[in-house]
Amino acid sequence: MTGRPRVCRARLDPARVDQARAADVHPGPYAPGDMAEPVLCALEDHPARDAHHGIIRYLDLRSPGEIWATWHTGDGAHEIEHRADCPEGDCTTYAGHPGAHSWQVSRP
Ligand SMILES: [Zn+2]
Ligand SMILES: [Zn+2]
Repeated sequence: MTGRPRVCRARLDPARVDQARAADVHPGPYAPGDMAEPVLCALEDHPARDAHHGIIRYLDLRSPGEIWATWHTGDGAHEIEHRADCPEGDCTTYAGHPGAHSWQVSRP
């Protein structure tokens, strides 16, 4: 056992991401590299019954925060919303996220 928590990394099928909904939530502008792929849960490893949270679009520096998807393991259904960045250090997770900050978890 090491002391470092692990990141969840559950995957949301990118073919199922509702990009039109994402564009509604925040119209951009976006560049091709702004689409996160794969979409992976960024939280510290958590019980399977809890929702996964992963970035689906990165916003540029003039638009703080990122576009996040929330989903449960299963059918690919997900919610999409714009969330502010976590204010702690260089954490790349959203403000108010559960678990450890991104710089505290190991990324295999
Ligand atoms: Zn997860
Ligand atoms: Zn954080």
